Amino acid sequence: MDELRQLITDPSKCPECSYTGDKLEAVSRHLALFHCKLDEFLQNDELVAAKRAKAMAKPKKVKTFDQHFKFQQKFQKLILLKKLSIYIKFNCRLSLN
Ligand SMILES: [Zn+2]
Repeated sequence: MDELRQLITDPSKCPECSYTGDKLEAVSRHLALFHCKLDEFLQNDELVAAKRAKAMAKPKKVKTFDQHFKFQQKFQKLILLKKLSIYIKFNCRLSLN
């Protein structure tokens, strides 16, 4: 999640609240889960389209079965992220009310 990481100026601190984490990974996860950032990015269709185009542009060689499998796994991950974002959106809405 490069976009998430771009939001983080200090790798151990959340830019939006007083949360501190020991790793950049933890802070970006915190941003995604507690500030619904992941959701914002996934709602940005342009970004998703750009990511997809980037992923499509990469394998120019004839794909072996293994490469094809990895490619599919990537998209399955994207779908999982989308599902996760819907779940997060729901939870965020609950906590706002
Ligand atoms: Zn925070």
